[in-house]
Amino acid sequence: FRVTLTPIRRRDKGVVGAIAVLQDVTESEKLEQSRREFVANVSHELRTPLTTIKSYAEALDDGALEEPPLAERFVGVIRSETERMIRLVTDLLHLSRFDSKQAQLRRQMTDIAEMMEDVVDRFSLQLRQKAITAKVQVDPGLEKAWLDRDGIDQVLDNLVSNAIKYTLDGGSIHLAARLNEAGQLSVTVKDTGIGIPKKDLERIFDRFYRVDKARSRSMGGTGLGLSIAREIVRAHGGHIALDSEPGVGTTATVTLPYVQEGGEAP
Ligand code: ADP
Repeated sequence: FRVTLTPIRRRDKGVVGAIAVLQDVTESEKLEQSRREFVANVSHELRTPLTTIKSYAEALDDGALEEPPLAERFVGVIRSETERMIRLVTDLLHLSRFDSKQAQLRRQMTDIAEMMEDVVDRFSLQLRQKAITAKVQVDPGLEKAWLDRDGIDQVLDNLVSNAIKYTLDGGSIHLAARLNEAGQLSVTVKDTGIGIPKKDLERIFDRFYRVDKARSRSMGGTGLGLSIAREIVRAHGGHIALDSEPGVGTTATVTLPYVQEGGEAP
């Protein structure tokens, strides 16, 4: 609480009383703190690649250019760090569109089975590189649904990309779509990966939160994938949750209203 005291004065009698205002500042304080943390995180995340780029450019300038194999490696680092920054800024722009409520869903009738198969196809190279098998299972009763296809594609891309990143070679990934007991569309992405410790699970959707920063960075992660996924799912009136057991695997469940064309989403 913030307490503000204002004395009440009478010209002839001096102070005769006071007005006390009690203001509940916990919410605004929390918001302000998370805003500060966010700005600090963004600055740090941008500063790290910039510092690397600067030092590698200096090394090139200081003579590495004369040694082509070395120069090639340094240019490679500069390039991948630049790509990281582009990914980060793209993710941030995405989030800021949701924050300013500018993000408009563009819903269309979407074939669920085709959408799920397409995601796996987009990752076929990475799956092959890590010898991870992927299985897709879609309830035959599922018809098309009224969804923002690009948005849900991005959600699934983030989930499948995480499933691959955090699963060891030779593991497996299982994608499934069905109608749940409440008549909602339920999409799950299940992996046999490293899992997430219980204590981290509740913060995993926070912006920039990662269980293992170094690991996520080395995998090219920005720490924003799940936050973006949650924004997109919420914009649909849906819900996203992660369930995990360290050393066994993780299951991400996206629940979406199963709306047919012309229907109104909640
Ligand atoms: P990142 O870009 O780091 O992957 P995300 O927001 O997508 O960021 O995920 C946040 C963190 O959650 C990851 O850094 C990782 O620690 C953890 N995580 C997400 N998905 C999985 C998964 N399938 N298995 C294990 N850990 C996961």
